[in-house]
Amino acid sequence: MDDCFRRDRAWIELDMGALRHNVAVLRALLPPGCALMPAVKADAYGHGAALIARELNRLCVRAFCVASAREGAQLRGSGVEGEILVLGYTHPQLIPLLHRARLTQTVLDASYAECLNRAGLPLEVQIKIDTGMHRLGERWTQIDALERIFACRNLRVTGAFTHLCADETTGEEDRAYTHAQARAFQDAVATLRKRGCQVPKVHALASYGLLNYPEIGGDYARIGIALYGVLSGASNAVPRAAALRPVLSLKARVAQLQTLRPGERAGYDLQFTARRETRLAVLSIGYADGLPRCLSCGVGTVLLRGCRAPIAGRICMDQTLVDATEIPETAPGDEAVLIGKSGAEEITACDVAEAAGTISNEILSRLGGRLERIAVEQCRMEQAV
Ligand SMILES: *Cc1c(COP(=O)(O)O)cnc(C)c1O
Repeated sequence: MDDCFRRDRAWIELDMGALRHNVAVLRALLPPGCALMPAVKADAYGHGAALIARELNRLCVRAFCVASAREGAQLRGSGVEGEILVLGYTHPQLIPLLHRARLTQTVLDASYAECLNRAGLPLEVQIKIDTGMHRLGERWTQIDALERIFACRNLRVTGAFTHLCADETTGEEDRAYTHAQARAFQDAVATLRKRGCQVPKVHALASYGLLNYPEIGGDYARIGIALYGVLSGASNAVPRAAALRPVLSLKARVAQLQTLRPGERAGYDLQFTARRETRLAVLSIGYADGLPRCLSCGVGTVLLRGCRAPIAGRICMDQTLVDATEIPETAPGDEAVLIGKSGAEEITACDVAEAAGTISNEILSRLGGRLERIAVEQCRMEQAV
């Protein structure tokens, strides 16, 4: 079915060819015996979790991780197969949901395990071992507490994992910390196994772990941002990530054009003043769609007909003004590109993140629920140009 009618005001295009390409690139980087466990939390970093996970299922990906039980249940409800690991806290009241949706719950510590166990429903769990991030997990030194988890009769432990927190660079201090985390994790698992505990799967790597420290190995790599073809920031670019291609483009329609005489003002707080005769294009996208308001007043730019146009004045909740004076052909109904390519120009999620003073993960994961997610195949996108 033609989905052009969904491109009405603002939307996301997903290049499924790029997703397949990234899966192939990342699989080639995996250590021996390691499989992908894509992170599809936060609606697959804003991309649309059901669309992404179903395509990954077609590529024989059989394990996923999400942040919450509800995210997991939604994925299961949309037909996604394989293991779905809930990385974060789940209220014990939601245990029936975990059970019904066949989700694997992360065990945060021994007392949380005992709490899950008391619900009396059989559950699959993986144990989070804290090796230095000090966010979630039972400390790697607490072997007796970790062992108690295996005594919970309703819990079947399918694995254990840790999370690295200094793996974005390979500087001396970060390298030492990362390897110390990996050693602590491997030691804890080895001790548990020696005591007769079954720990089928172990994993530690996320995107930067795989790119910078593949030697840490494991049964899974929990890949989020790299799968979407993006790095968190331009400053931590990694040569091994060079072949990845961005999956997401963010586009909006030009609703109207306004011609301002020199000296006229525009937008909230009168933050734009026309220095010359000015043509403002009104885009049908705003901060409620996830466009950061701090890109107002020329901090951010968009692409119109392959040219850059600065954001003019304050970004509104549902609309954004851009200065299109230098692009006189701009007309109502044009597509504006906020993330992605137009002609020879490109604005990456990293560019937007840098302008907004954050990382691309935050920009992508905050893209609003109001945006349509449209899967496109590259050949059709080329035809459309
Ligand atoms: C989000 C998350 C990941 C994925 O991280 P990326 O850096 O996006 O690859 C992996 N593991 C845990 C525990 C996470 O919370």
